[in-house]
Amino acid sequence: MNVITRFAPSPTGFLHMGGVRTALFSYLYAKQNNGTFALRIEDTDKARNKTEWETALIDDLSWLGLKHDTFSRQSDRIEIYSKYIQKLIINGSAYISKEIPKEEGQRHEVIRFKNPNKVVVINDLIRGEVRVDTTDLGDFVIARSFTEPVFHLAVVVDDFEMGITHVIRAEEHLSNTPRQILILEALGAPRPVYAHLPLVLAPDKSKLSKRKHGETVSLTYYRNKGYLPESIINFVALMGWNPGTDQELFSLDELIAKFKLEKVQKGGAIFNINKLNWINREYIRKLSNHSFADHIVPFIPEWLKTNDGLFIKLLPLLRKKINAFGDLAAILSQEGELGFVKDLKSYEPDILRWKKNPDFQITQRHLLAVKKLLENLGKGDWQVPKLTTSLWPYALEHGKGDVLWPLRVALTGQERSPDPFTCANLLGKEETIRRIDIACQKILTIHPTNQ
Ligand code: GLU
Repeated sequence: MNVITRFAPSPTGFLHMGGVRTALFSYLYAKQNNGTFALRIEDTDKARNKTEWETALIDDLSWLGLKHDTFSRQSDRIEIYSKYIQKLIINGSAYISKEIPKEEGQRHEVIRFKNPNKVVVINDLIRGEVRVDTTDLGDFVIARSFTEPVFHLAVVVDDFEMGITHVIRAEEHLSNTPRQILILEALGAPRPVYAHLPLVLAPDKSKLSKRKHGETVSLTYYRNKGYLPESIINFVALMGWNPGTDQELFSLDELIAKFKLEKVQKGGAIFNINKLNWINREYIRKLSNHSFADHIVPFIPEWLKTNDGLFIKLLPLLRKKINAFGDLAAILSQEGELGFVKDLKSYEPDILRWKKNPDFQITQRHLLAVKKLLENLGKGDWQVPKLTTSLWPYALEHGKGDVLWPLRVALTGQERSPDPFTCANLLGKEETIRRIDIACQKILTIHPTNQ
């Protein structure tokens, strides 16, 4: 069998992370069976569709690396649906129904499906057997006119015409399946295999929804925050599927090899941001320096873009500190942990004192001693290992906290920061000395007697 799957989004809003999963699983299933992955834009709801959303959807999928093999758009296929509506009327499965409009503007005529009122048995690949008595559905509407098919009709016609063998979609659509099966039976179309994917849940087990969780359910949110596409793919693959081994990191190719649709769980899948962060950190760790640098450029402030020396020195540090590239702006901001590389913010002299030995006089003595040791270092020796060895004996002799705490605060103006050798290396000799002088000056202004 030549497997053909489809992803059939409606361009009525951003791509939901659940939608990413539907696309991914459909893609994986097609690719692992040497089949075809179809992208179908379901834009029959004229009032809610926007071309911008369609463009964004296509862009999102290509960013994720989920390349489609065929493309179609329902609004281009109205004539085809019209032909099928006529066919259903002619074969007695549908009829034009005169309606009494309940509201102004409502139609006097719609096309209804003649419900055979039977029990439909769905053998869902994930959910198992599902039986539904369709009697309650009544004679449902399949088109508002010959050129205005309702969603169910368009889906069935397309799945039939496109030879879709596997319908992989969200659980929300399970309730649509009985109607769609009735229509396809009336058309004499073969039944595809259905696989309804479990709901995506927030950590509090509520359904992850746009209404409740806002933009955090959208792929755009994570793209803008600077997550890598390979991390999103990896993360989303594990929402409802697991390989049954300890492996947690999968490239798209590995997923094609290892993913098993039959192994997708029935119960809701929890969206765990910590897991996404962990996965993304792992992928960031694997990037070459060059690629990491390329990736972060759009996320860093202008002043750093134009300071190559500092940029290169900062790279390893930045890589360790972030979950996603979007975290860089905060870390490098005035309030951030690494903001000191740009400007020394004003700070209270009090924080220069090591808490276990809060004596200003001693603090200042250490700062001056350290300054002298640093002044003896040539510019070529201004690197973390040399800086460390030049200060280490003094720090060991007088107490690491006593010596290194005031130095670190002097260089950064803050209580939390990287170690002082790293800070000095980032700042360069001149600026390091300047900041030590500032610290000594601060102590002098409150303790003139120290002179
Ligand atoms: N257009 C539907 C949606 O965006 C999907 C329909 C289907 O997969 O059958 O939710």
